[in-house]
Amino acid sequence: MEGAIAVEPETTTQAVCYRHPSRETAVSCANCERPICTDCMVYTPVGIKCPDCARLPRSAIVRLRPDRAARAILAAFLVGGGMGVGIVILQDVGLFFALILGWLIGIGMGEAVLTASGRYRAPTTGWIAVGGCIWAYAVPYLLYYGANFGAVARSAGLVWVVLGAGVACYVAYNRVQ
Ligand SMILES: [Zn+2]
Ligand SMILES: [Zn+2]
Repeated sequence: MEGAIAVEPETTTQAVCYRHPSRETAVSCANCERPICTDCMVYTPVGIKCPDCARLPRSAIVRLRPDRAARAILAAFLVGGGMGVGIVILQDVGLFFALILGWLIGIGMGEAVLTASGRYRAPTTGWIAVGGCIWAYAVPYLLYYGANFGAVARSAGLVWVVLGAGVACYVAYNRVQ
């Protein structure tokens, strides 16, 4: 340590807030252990945290268990498949209903993924839900056209489906993460 010789043991400089270098503090974040001043302290059920750590959802610190991730993906796949069949039945219902359907699918997919993952809220599970919604909207086209994307692009109602899928993805992601 350079300069350590000049420092008296009893005059060691106190830690300063990492966000306010002019403020000394004896408190540090329970999560990242950076020193924080009284203005920066955030009281949480698991102790005093810095604003950065307090903003993170608790689930972002606990890792998503692989078995739960697998269950969430499986749920998104199965629920999405079921919803896809539902979309086939309810097709040609018009824009307004397509948007409501997208909203309902987003909620349903969000809940399915949340339940399967043990209510793990994070971008990871959010994207699994988004994938499930896209899958749900892809199913009708796979049933009709197989992998013929040209036919998909030419089919009537694609705009409604894209809008509905967009709404579903948005709702599902925000519900889960
Ligand atoms: Zn922190
Ligand atoms: Zn501060």
